[in-house]
Amino acid sequence: MTTTLITGANRGIGLEFCKQYLHEGHQVIACCREPEQADELQALAQDHIDQLELVALDITDDSQLSGLQDYLTGRQIDLLISNAGAYGPKGLPLGEYQAEHFEQVMAVNVTAPLMLVQSLMLHLAQGAKIALLSSKMGSITDNGSGGSYVYRASKSAINAIGKSLAIDLSPKGTCVTIFHPGWVQTDMGGPNALITTEVSVRGMRHVLEQSSLADSGKFLNYDGTELPW
Ligand code: NDP
Repeated sequence: MTTTLITGANRGIGLEFCKQYLHEGHQVIACCREPEQADELQALAQDHIDQLELVALDITDDSQLSGLQDYLTGRQIDLLISNAGAYGPKGLPLGEYQAEHFEQVMAVNVTAPLMLVQSLMLHLAQGAKIALLSSKMGSITDNGSGGSYVYRASKSAINAIGKSLAIDLSPKGTCVTIFHPGWVQTDMGGPNALITTEVSVRGMRHVLEQSSLADSGKFLNYDGTELPW
């Protein structure tokens, strides 16, 4: 059975990954900050009692990452979805940025995914796959509208990290895919977003199924199209 670990699993794209991989028969380890408040995950757990495990994880908390390592003792992960993310200040004009605006977003979007992969490295099965949820906003080539300094910088940085992970983990056969999930209807994407979580996740699942080590380190749209850095 495929074991899949997902961060930020309580809402948005992470929740949809849980739903679809449960439907596919995976053993799902759903990580979120407050499992006891995660009503939709709790409801899913009722219907998938042996298949869905809820684990408390704030990805910026080192002690909780250690707790996750302990929880996984003796177990292997086949698929790691690093999904949790933060946007930071929206619509802030140039001139009003402060250093502190970067701290939380960089911690969640950049530092934490690397710490997560480092913590789980010994638990990655041979030939495991890692999906890093980035964004087209991190593409320097694609930036035609400026602004969003914090979010853009964080997603450019996770792209750089993803590329290095792909190189460094390839001897173990681990394939790393860096995704733009599309503009998706979630709390972050907002109501005007172009696609549903169902369409986004179905697309990324298909890309992951098809991916091999030769594709590791690519920056891909949810439909598999390669994106410019
Ligand atoms: P949402 O804002 O809907 O959900 C964000 C998720 O991340 C929540 O589960 C949230 O948990 C979790 N999270 C935030 N901080 C932490 C933390 N410190 N520890 C653990 N979990 C945390 O976002 P989306 O579902 O839309 O986005 C998912 C990913 O896709 C993100 O990485 C985002 O940047 C990326 N993305 C999304 C796009 C979109 O259009 N929606 C476009 C491009 C990229 P909690 O409920 O506890 O806050």
